Amino acid sequence: MTMTYAWLWTLLAFVLTWMIFHLIKMKKAATEDVEAEAEERSDGATDVIIVGAGVAGASLAYALAKDGRRVHVIERDLKEPQRFMGELMQAGGRFMLAQLGLEDCLEEIDAQEAKSLAIYKDGKHATLPFPDDKKFPHEPVGRLLRNGRLVQRLRQKTASLSNVQLEEGTVKSLIEEKGVVKGVTYKNSAGEETTAFAPLTVVCDGCYSNLRRSLVDNNTVTEVPADSIPSIANGELSTFLKKSMAPQIPETGNLREIFLKGIEEGLPEIKSTATKSMSARLCDKRGVIVLGDAFNMRHPIIASGMMVALSDICILRNLLRPLPNLSNTKRVSDIVNSFYIIRKPMSATVNTLASIFSQVLVATTDEAREGMRQGCFNYLARGDFKTAGLMTILGGMNPHPLTLVLHLVAITLTSMGHLLSPFPSPRRFWHSLRLFVWALQMLGAHLVDEGFKEMLIPTNAARYRRTYIATTTV
Ligand SMILES: Cc1cc2nc3c(=O)[nH]c(=O)nc-3n(C[C@H](O)[C@H](O)[C@H](O)COP(=O)(O)OP(=O)(O)OC[C@H]3O[C@@H](n4cnc5c(N)ncnc54)[C@H](O)[C@@H]3O)c2cc1C
Repeated sequence: MTMTYAWLWTLLAFVLTWMIFHLIKMKKAATEDVEAEAEERSDGATDVIIVGAGVAGASLAYALAKDGRRVHVIERDLKEPQRFMGELMQAGGRFMLAQLGLEDCLEEIDAQEAKSLAIYKDGKHATLPFPDDKKFPHEPVGRLLRNGRLVQRLRQKTASLSNVQLEEGTVKSLIEEKGVVKGVTYKNSAGEETTAFAPLTVVCDGCYSNLRRSLVDNNTVTEVPADSIPSIANGELSTFLKKSMAPQIPETGNLREIFLKGIEEGLPEIKSTATKSMSARLCDKRGVIVLGDAFNMRHPIIASGMMVALSDICILRNLLRPLPNLSNTKRVSDIVNSFYIIRKPMSATVNTLASIFSQVLVATTDEAREGMRQGCFNYLARGDFKTAGLMTILGGMNPHPLTLVLHLVAITLTSMGHLLSPFPSPRRFWHSLRLFVWALQMLGAHLVDEGFKEMLIPTNAARYRRTYIATTTV
């Protein structure tokens, strides 16, 4: 009897293994068919379709075209984008532009040098220069600019390459078969619905991306929901800006006066913009990559979105370079998996710092939080090697998650010391304990999101950093 059971079980195990083996084989064959078909369907005239020509799309198109790829960029609106706020290209972002051969696009757009940042609090202020870091192989100076002007320069330079087709059109959807993206449907400038095929489609359609939803979890967080913004029409916004914002603006260089004048003169033109955050998620579909704001966003408080997008493009360009063509979707998909890890030193550092500063630097009546805010100001204002270290991180000159975590721990301890001084009392002790728990919660959430082992285990962090530097440098 026992022997019969043993035989039956062995037979069952054999049949199951055989079935699983054949199912895997059939799935593989189906994928290969789709890949081969994609290769056929691609008219052979295009290697990559890029959706959107903002900083990410235009820079990526240039980089891939310089490597000999035939690139078709489809951009909804080829006029200069009109954003009402200025933006800072960090020193680290300038370095990435130089790596991509695009640094000259910062010229002739009235970009201003930014050698330092200024911080103000309760009538005190400090100037924080971007330090000269021997390990950073570029000038430690950022550029203040208008995003639209930079984008227009990037588009012009990209379109000047003979293997780039920059077309005005609105992409409506991705053409997808059996989990493989083969191209896009779009409305061209004549209003006709048409299609384009290529072995690889890169979605760079920005923070309001429509295409992202069909590719990855949409985990966007908006800081201030649209319905809680004071109304412009009935004057609430104007009152808010005058009463709540203006007193926080330093009077140095007539800044506050200019701000108030702007409100009076430009009231009908006042606009608001959403500040969104979204962690990066890997897309499991083949034949497609998501980049730029459509892929990963952080709070703009540390002005780094363009820099992260450019860093991602450097990595991806260098990883894709050895591939003779992009139709092997399996290889491209493996590259995207490596890209997702290699980008961590920059993305995890910047995302964590942005998230923490966006919570800590907000004015508050909570004693513990105000203690952290003051501690942060004190830490930045001290002007010693610690400040310099944090500034190299902020400027993107030292993408190093572990160093950032050490700075954040030091800031927390400084803030607790500030709360406990001049001598500890039960109330002060309670607030400093609350501060500690809050700091842990903020950091903990990011360690989980960005990857504990990539950020905190020193040997791993060092290895990831070396790979990152090797992959972003030409
Ligand atoms: C308030 C604020 C301040 C910021 N300040 C800074 C700063 O100081 N420094 C910094 O580095 N970053 C800053 N950023 C972030 C930075 O602007 C972005 O990270 C960066 O511009 C993203 O570039 P992108 O190319 O991914 O997206 P976008 O610049 O948004 O480009 C997307 C492009 O896709 C096109 N498009 C969209 N949908 C379609 C479609 N269906 N078909 C075809 N084309 C389409 C759009 O027309 C657009 O041209 C700030 C962001 C905000 C919100």
